[in-house]
Parts: sequence; C-alpha cells; structure tokens
Amino acid sequence: MKVLVPVKRVVDYNVKVRVKSDQTGVDIANVKMSMNPFDEIAVEEATRLKEKGSVAEVIAVSCGVAQCQETLRTAMAIGADRGVLVQTDAELQPLAVAKMLKALVDKEQPQLVILGKQAIDDDANQTGQMLAALLGWPQATFASKVELGEGQVTVTREVDGGLETLKLKLPAIVTTDLRLNEPRYVTLPNIMKAKKKPLETVTPQDLGVDPAPRLKTLKVTEPPARKAGIKVADVAALVDKLKNEAKVI
Ligand code: AMP
Repeated sequence: MKVLVPVKRVVDYNVKVRVKSDQTGVDIANVKMSMNPFDEIAVEEATRLKEKGSVAEVIAVSCGVAQCQETLRTAMAIGADRGVLVQTDAELQPLAVAKMLKALVDKEQPQLVILGKQAIDDDANQTGQMLAALLGWPQATFASKVELGEGQVTVTREVDGGLETLKLKLPAIVTTDLRLNEPRYVTLPNIMKAKKKPLETVTPQDLGVDPAPRLKTLKVTEPPARKAGIKVADVAALVDKLKNEAKVI
C-alpha cells in the first residue's frame, strides 16, 4: 500500500520572524526555510512503516513555490520514494491545500495520508481535518503512536488528561504530534540518493483546483513588549506582591 505525506516548507523554527512594516505579514525574504517539524515526523513514521514491510511506497507532496523541491528532497533523504510538487506562487491557505491533496489522493489512491498536526508558520491545524472531510475518510489527529493492521490503523492520541486509542478503517487520515517519533538524522549518502529519486511537478490547474485565498489577512502585529521584571528581597515580599499587587493568590 501507498502512504502520502504532505510536507510544507516553512520558516525554520530557530528563526525569529519580524513583522513587515506595512503589517501585511512577516518578512520571509532571506530567512532560513525548512520542512515543517511535524511533517518531518510524518515522513519518519511513513518510512518506519515501510521499513517494517507494511507499506510499499511513500510519496511526499509539497504545495507552493519552486523551492519546495528542496523540502521534497529532504523528505526523500529521510526515506520517501518519490516527490510531487504542486507548484504555485499563490498564497496558499489550508482549504486550497486540502483540495489539491484530495486531487492527488484520487490519482494516487493511497490507503493512508500522514500529515503534520499543524504548520508552525500559520498554526492553522486545519489541513488534515479538511482533507478528511473532503474525502469522507476517518481521521485521527495528534497521533503519538501508529500501528498498521489488516485494513485498519490503530492510533494513540494525546488528549487532555491522558491517552485515547482509536481504531480506524483504512483508508484514513492521521496527523502527527511531537512525541510520535524522533526523526532520523539525514546522512550525506541519503541526500545524494535522494537527488536521483523521481520528482514530478504539476500545477493546481492540472489538478482542477483554484488556489485563490478565501480569507483576507487584515493586519499582523508584534506581540506587546514584555515589561522588565523586578527583584524581591525575600519570599515574604514575593507573597505580599502576589497577594496585594498582582492579586493572583
Ligand atoms: P496547517 O493546517 O496549515 O496547520 O497544516 C497542517 C499540515 O498540513 C502540515 O503539517 C502539512 O502536513 C500539511 N500542509 C499544509 N500546507 C501544506 C503545503 N503547502 N504543502 C504540503 N503540505 C501542507
């Protein structure tokens, strides 16, 4: 069976982003871009399933600008067999991405799609859920354990106050949480091998999807600067301030 893994190119998690002076968004010119960390976990999980013998092929998909090819090559260096780039310069929102992924699912017929639970740039946490809805497939979000069985997948999820275990009939959608696995270190030989793996490029139009945004960003602003802290002489002074100034105890 095939597994499809959507991977998003995002600002690297170490970069401190700056809001553009016209407040239309954050400045991503000349900043380091990387694969969304939750997607790395998704590629790792799909690769482990392949190594266990339960999966025949792992296909990585990225939607966005031409440079998303680098993200796909990273996915292939981790273990994906091939990549598909849905190339567009349009600003992509989760619904448009979900529609493009649905078109690819219809074409490739995977039994499982493993996405990240959220992209660390827009923090939307929507694409997997929207894709499940468009396909009419069952979904298990925030997976911390994935076990493939005959025609089904068992997923453990982290929920408030504990763990929840779901059994889904395949085909299904799973989104990854941080504790699902620790992605492997990408080695140079695997980076070299990944360069030779097939990478197909299509456009949203080829997939019959209009990528135009449905939501308008009105304004992006910096969070208010934090006020400087103060030092207190002793515990009694701290308790007094918490009680009488901050009024939190
Ligand atoms: P979001 O709903 O934007 O928080 O993204 C959730 C997940 O959807 C990501 O972790 C990716 O797996 C997938 N995804 C979102 N946008 C893209 C994109 N442009 N290309 C490929 N995958 C994407």
